Amino acid sequence: MSKLIIHGGFFSESNTDESTKKLKQESLRIILDKSFEYLKTHSAYETVIYAVSLLEDDPLYNAGIGSQIQSDGEIRMSAAVMDGETQLMSGVINIQHVKNPIKVAEFLNAYDDRILGGPCATEFARNNGFEFFSVETEQRRKEFEEKLRSTGSGTVGCVAIDAEGKLAAATSTGGKGFEIPGRISDSATIAGNYANQFCAVSCTGVGEDIVSGAVAAKIVTRLTDGFSMDKAFEKTFEELKIVDGFAGAIAIDKDGNIFHLDSHPTMVFGAFDGKNYEIFS
Ligand code: ASP
Repeated sequence: MSKLIIHGGFFSESNTDESTKKLKQESLRIILDKSFEYLKTHSAYETVIYAVSLLEDDPLYNAGIGSQIQSDGEIRMSAAVMDGETQLMSGVINIQHVKNPIKVAEFLNAYDDRILGGPCATEFARNNGFEFFSVETEQRRKEFEEKLRSTGSGTVGCVAIDAEGKLAAATSTGGKGFEIPGRISDSATIAGNYANQFCAVSCTGVGEDIVSGAVAAKIVTRLTDGFSMDKAFEKTFEELKIVDGFAGAIAIDKDGNIFHLDSHPTMVFGAFDGKNYEIFS
């Protein structure tokens, strides 16, 4: 039954060149392989964290290393994980200077206070052994200096089902790029990342649209209430049109059906079920 699907956000207009596309396809393939290997001996919950940490470590994506720079020159990241079995979500919003925000989100899953934001999230991480790490890359500084606003160019996420049929979702982002400091992304909300025993979903796109459309939570709830996967996606994306929404989502349901839909055809994602790869970008 073990399967997983990962995403690397959308290509933006500033980086749709063929070489970046190829690099992302190769990277997705490597991360899928490693994560699938990991899933053989770990739960879906552990695997989505592992996969997202690998995506955060690759500067090609807008999460962890390579996160986009905000309007004040600072990088702030958000990440969340949700275990479909326990239905506990934990996350960080606008955390700074840590290598893997998803690991801080994981750490918080054991706490009563499970979602922390801003400087206090950073301080909490520091006090709990997450060392200072600058995630800024030359490429992102260059983009920032050229003021190339590149909306939605590579948030990352993973959804997995393990051998026991348990589901989990994890999502991590550096935000939209050039946003007003304090702006909150969808990634550490139930709109951007949600899971239960029926379905798990991770989103990418414009956070404001995803939150307005309550995308991940709606898809999961619809599946839970008896919708088929394609109908749940179809209705949710239809409703997103009211806000002219820019979004994409990946999902797996309890029967192991893998699904993806995007409002614009430039989403980067890949799935692997142990036999067949599907890489799209
Ligand atoms: N959803 C992210 C945000 O709005 C951006 C993205 O997915 O690329 O912050």
